[in-house]
Amino acid sequence: MESSSSSSSVSTITEEEKKKKNPRLVSKSVAIVGGGISGLAAAYKLKSYGLNVTLFETEERAGGKLRSVSQDGLIWDEGANTMMESEMEVTTLLDNLRLREKQQFPISQNKRYIVRNGKPEMIPTNPIALIKSSFLSTKSKFQLMLEPFLWRSSAKNNISDENSKQSVGEFFERHFGKEVVDYLIDPFVAGTSAADVDSLSMPHAFPELWNLEKMFGSVIEGAIRSKLSGKREKRGETSGKKKGRRGSFSFQGGMQTLADMICNELGENFKMNSKVLSLSCSPDEASAFDNWSVSYATNHQKPSPDQSFDAVIMTAPLCNVKEMKISRRGSPFMLDFLPKVDYLPLSVVITTFKKENVKRPLEGFGVLIPSKEQQQNDFKTLGTIFSSMMFPDRAPSDVYLYTTFVGGSRNRDLAKASLDELKQVVASDLKKLLGAEGEPTFVHRFYWNKAFPLYGHDYNSVLGAIKMMEESLPGFFYAGNHRGGLSVGKALASGCKAADSVISYLDSPSDDKLHSETKSVEEAIKP
Ligand SMILES: Cc1cc2nc3c(=O)[nH]c(=O)nc-3n(C[C@H](O)[C@H](O)[C@H](O)COP(=O)(O)OP(=O)(O)OC[C@H]3O[C@@H](n4cnc5c(N)ncnc54)[C@H](O)[C@@H]3O)c2cc1C
Repeated sequence: MESSSSSSSVSTITEEEKKKKNPRLVSKSVAIVGGGISGLAAAYKLKSYGLNVTLFETEERAGGKLRSVSQDGLIWDEGANTMMESEMEVTTLLDNLRLREKQQFPISQNKRYIVRNGKPEMIPTNPIALIKSSFLSTKSKFQLMLEPFLWRSSAKNNISDENSKQSVGEFFERHFGKEVVDYLIDPFVAGTSAADVDSLSMPHAFPELWNLEKMFGSVIEGAIRSKLSGKREKRGETSGKKKGRRGSFSFQGGMQTLADMICNELGENFKMNSKVLSLSCSPDEASAFDNWSVSYATNHQKPSPDQSFDAVIMTAPLCNVKEMKISRRGSPFMLDFLPKVDYLPLSVVITTFKKENVKRPLEGFGVLIPSKEQQQNDFKTLGTIFSSMMFPDRAPSDVYLYTTFVGGSRNRDLAKASLDELKQVVASDLKKLLGAEGEPTFVHRFYWNKAFPLYGHDYNSVLGAIKMMEESLPGFFYAGNHRGGLSVGKALASGCKAADSVISYLDSPSDDKLHSETKSVEEAIKP
């Protein structure tokens, strides 16, 4: 297997960015732990402000959950397949890195399917099309149409503090009924986070919708109003600026290209094969900042000499942070207050079939399978992306390339099944869905034992513990998909925000650096 993307060595940090370099910051150094998209984005931003950055990554490649492979004329993604430009930080990065030239938009990306009565049905692309279609029963359509009226008037009676423990399933069932949950929300949730609607906490998984209910009662009315006001704001802000295209996209060579392009900018500041083992901070006589010392092992061998820094951005998953030793001013900083995060396992199975053997190929993005359909029609997979339909350059013209997801919270054991078993499971589902006959001509699997952190009902304690680390350790900041969202765009934005926090920390006048006493663990992890 080889990395699928190539990247230019020309620096793309713009003049405009170089001007931002601040003499107070250029002498400062920052360690970033983890070379996933959040760590890469943080490192790129800090470097563009003139800081000295060192990014430590355990693996011998950049990207974390962005992972593309190019082999035998095929290109596939074992992690994220596409991303969106919903966050401003994504737009800035795409422009600064000149990644627009490498962006790839899927063909017919609006054609997405959900299985109903054993067959893929195209999801209507907008609310009016949904009401006109036969995708939902008349009862559910009425429930959708009435939601703005029923919930506006009864909002105050229905929204109580008790609901803050509400699951995603309960929330959507209250507003739209069970059928919408079973056939729209359940497959969407499994397809984007490998979770199930009962275990996922509404306020943590969909904070925007959760807040819309609080503000407007009706989710539909709230969504319309905030879309309108968002449009008005954007018109004011971006007049004259070009706007990114809507929808999902990838890059030539797959999502790895994004990681490789940033990594390329970092040059020798990116230390691969470097697993951080311990971090310690101690007061520095010569400076107002605590001094951070980072020890790491290269190639999984013995620790390298410690390096010292003015601040640290941690982007490793919390399960990895727990394995690190942290000390503060000579005493161990025990991480036993970090709660156990529940991670969902997932296998990504890549198959190809000769085109002539696929009797009912579908154009579009892919198909998702609701839990109900798994039970009633004996499907085993969560869904399949039509990879070579979306991006024809990802496979030779005589085959279809599919990316299928197996496991998640619906079937944790199946995620770690043998390649042989997964091949049977995937081939059986693709036969029922697309008429794919016989054996796949190519099969490959990648197993993530911790694909996604589950934003469950106790996720407050996880967020509280992250806050506790940041408040207790001077110059320590946390970024990544363990808070603020799982998508590539959200993780990228969280890295940029952590970089901003580091900049304001290191740029604030020295007198402000009289470190405040640590808050008690109990106080900081209070929900
Ligand atoms: C199978 C799959 C499909 C997905 N599909 C999509 C999608 O289509 N669209 C989308 O928007 N999102 C998708 N996601 C989610 C998204 O890819 C991730 O949430 C996001 O990429 C996470 O980025 P991150 O930087 O927070 O973490 P990670 O990518 O997990 O990066 C953390 C890095 O830290 C490193 N690390 C850990 N411990 C240490 C240590 N001690 N020292 C040094 N380094 C360390 C790890 O090796 C890793 O590289 C998908 C995720 C998976 C698993």
